[in-house]
Amino acid sequence: MTSSPFPRRVALISVHTSPLAQPGTGDAGGMNVYVWQTATRLARRGVEVEIFTRATSSADAPSVAAAPGVTVRNVVAGPFEGLDKRDLPAQLCAFTAGVLRAEAAQAPGYYDVIHSHYWLSGQVGWLARDRWGVPLVHTAHTLAAVKNASLADGDTAEPQLRVIGEQQVVGEADRMVANTQTEAAELLSMYGAAAERIDVVTPGADLDCYTPGSASAARAALDLDPDEMIVTFVGRIQPLKAPDLLVAAAAPLIRESAASGRKLRVLIVGGPSGSGLQRPTALMDQVAELGIADSVTFLPPQPAERLVQVYRASDVVAVPSHSESFGLVAIEAQACGTPVIAANVGGLGVAVDDGRTGVLVNGHGVGDWTNALEKLLAQPDRLVELGHNARSHAEQFSWEHTVDQLLESYGRAMRSFAAHRSPESPDSSATAAAAARVRRRWRRRRN
Ligand code: UDP
Repeated sequence: MTSSPFPRRVALISVHTSPLAQPGTGDAGGMNVYVWQTATRLARRGVEVEIFTRATSSADAPSVAAAPGVTVRNVVAGPFEGLDKRDLPAQLCAFTAGVLRAEAAQAPGYYDVIHSHYWLSGQVGWLARDRWGVPLVHTAHTLAAVKNASLADGDTAEPQLRVIGEQQVVGEADRMVANTQTEAAELLSMYGAAAERIDVVTPGADLDCYTPGSASAARAALDLDPDEMIVTFVGRIQPLKAPDLLVAAAAPLIRESAASGRKLRVLIVGGPSGSGLQRPTALMDQVAELGIADSVTFLPPQPAERLVQVYRASDVVAVPSHSESFGLVAIEAQACGTPVIAANVGGLGVAVDDGRTGVLVNGHGVGDWTNALEKLLAQPDRLVELGHNARSHAEQFSWEHTVDQLLESYGRAMRSFAAHRSPESPDSSATAAAAARVRRRWRRRRN
């Protein structure tokens, strides 16, 4: 058996958000964590990684040595600040030019593989792939058609422009990476992807950072009451993630708990994002209208070292999302030994082992969520058992395993690309000639 080709250098493209940004607010979330965790682990295995992202501050250096073997290239494309994600398609030409220029300054054949993240990056990767003559691997992270099929009431639909852009990338990518079999099926049925070009690669959690630990120490560190029951939401605050559903479902239980022995608290960690930015105080307003402001704590986005305390401090972590490609928060919470109550959508059905590590709730009815929460919180022994199982379940989802699978996908892409684009093929010689022209032009400019 011949071994898979191993890439020396990979270009990761993450146009709309930098892996160096704090996740949990704005455009920074699971994708940032994914890109950073896989980049640093690929580098530790000897793959040089360059991440292309859009500069969002004049203080961003063009190139940052972010970790051993990982360089972040901040490409100037459009105004640094205040550019909405919806306006990014207009900056893709400028961004792509920056990416092509960076490569043109290097020796030919500098990158072996391009891995693009989210459809905007896929558009850039598609052109770079044709220019450089190397394969494109693409991860969608979320799909507009899937999101639009299960929107929260009153949420803004993703534009058709994005669906078309995704469709193009699916058609062009040499390999598609799907987070779960469910997502692979969506790529087949909604985007007409070719089954033989899809690799299912499950994301992970940092199992060394997210570990079980003392809940009381965690509560002391976060200044939380040692005796209350705590149900926690962690993530970007927007209708898609449904923190409003958690608050509405918990409200009657909070009121009842005030009369009984043990009070219930809802902890919300994260900042406004997406369509949630249009009404950044909506969740706080809802809490005030429900009269439960004293029993809801809001924390701004937390770095991983603090988030581990949040998970440990919680009796249950809730992930009520309307759609979720995977749901890293669910795995991180379970890695800390905390059970999860999650909506039975998308990747959450894989991330949570229903009945063994948490509970999956069908639908987004407030009454159903109140009942499910009430039942769970009324059984302290069951919570302990679910939490115990949760850690071993989460251990299946390590980033090391993700990187093993990504390297296999890169190898497959390199092998099939080499087979289909032999040096004699007119296609590849035209590509190589075009690439050489770009390189010459940029060398002349620099000199
Ligand atoms: N996150 C964080 N700090 C916060 C809130 C969230 O670091 O205050 C991280 C969290 O650890 C997780 C990611 O943001 O890794 C969210 O990923 P998820 O897949 O749950 O949702 P997404 O943002 O991709 O929609």
